[in-house]
Amino acid sequence: MALRALARVNLAAIERNCRFLRGQLSDATALCAVVKANGYGHGAVPAARAALAGGATWLAVASAGEAAELRAAGIDAHDVPLLTLGALGDEELELALDAPADVVAWSAPSVERLERAAAAGARRPIRVHLKLDVGMGRLGTRDADELLRLADRVAAAPGLALVGAMTHFPSADEDLALTRAQLDAFLAFGARLRAAHPDVLLHAANSAATLDLPPSRLDMVRCGIAVYGLDPANVDAAARGLEPALELRSYVGALKPLAPGQTVGYGARFVAPGATWIATLPIGYGDGLRRALSDNADVLIGGRRYPLVGRVSMDNVTVDVGPDPVVRPGDEAVLIGAQGDERVTAEELARRIDTINYEITTALLPRVTRAHHRDGGPA
Ligand SMILES: *Cc1c(COP(=O)(O)O)cnc(C)c1O
Repeated sequence: MALRALARVNLAAIERNCRFLRGQLSDATALCAVVKANGYGHGAVPAARAALAGGATWLAVASAGEAAELRAAGIDAHDVPLLTLGALGDEELELALDAPADVVAWSAPSVERLERAAAAGARRPIRVHLKLDVGMGRLGTRDADELLRLADRVAAAPGLALVGAMTHFPSADEDLALTRAQLDAFLAFGARLRAAHPDVLLHAANSAATLDLPPSRLDMVRCGIAVYGLDPANVDAAARGLEPALELRSYVGALKPLAPGQTVGYGARFVAPGATWIATLPIGYGDGLRRALSDNADVLIGGRRYPLVGRVSMDNVTVDVGPDPVVRPGDEAVLIGAQGDERVTAEELARRIDTINYEITTALLPRVTRAHHRDGGPA
């Protein structure tokens, strides 16, 4: 029975992508798989397990709730350190520390808050990563001297453990010269930090930096998008040796003829120039298929590309299958993925609507059924 909106996620592909990334790294560099935002839409827990099977030894998420979800699923703190990357409110901090997960700090008040949590009996030691801002301008401090003072303070505090120091590159996918300069700033700080705290783990690289700027790999890389087989520069994942793990499918729910001049969809935007047939697929922006793709995407049916016509609505999209269709009700339709010799990538969809592949898969909503498998077999 066809499902109206199905994301098939190949866990073996995630495992192979991690093994590929792992193969680029020296033994001294750990692979941290970033599984925030429900594993970029792929399902956080299964994606995390596949990444660990592929050689990742750390996991990272954005929020405390995401950290708690992984721990609740049995990904044990004794086996797998887990880093929450984001800023945490007071309640979130409690949840992150209970998970347990490592947390990030970059200011005196944020370290004081951790000292208070440790004194109040939070699970100890609280594992801390300090964050230097080298140009992202979001979290972290630009003041390396201040961060060195905070490192001494964290290292000396009972109940706190100084585990890592990190930064995050804003332009590793598009400006390597700038990224190199930002890496140098982080390395200068790292050298001073290491003089006082030799065991601190230095980590900076996201997927783009991991692949394109090997000196940025340091003690650990934090890879998200590449784990899922998507290209960090939104061009061509296959050319980088990555294998997309997610396919998005629907099916032909209805097929009807259209006379010249008849219209399709909200706003009657599509007016049939000649006689044709319209296939309606029961998937829409209520599933996370972006409305900006209206009149601007191709769908695969029977191994052929057909244009999506008219507006994407909440629950349906409409496809022009031509005047003499070979398409039949019930046929499988592929919105992301391969069918026959044709393929629609998340990168293609992203380029069409001026966004990035990250947003295409992360946008998929809970109404989309996730089916995890390993190369077509059981997960
Ligand atoms: C999301 C995130 C990453 C992963 O980035 P990718 O480009 O998906 O590899 C790494 N570090 C931080 C701080 C992040 O927020």
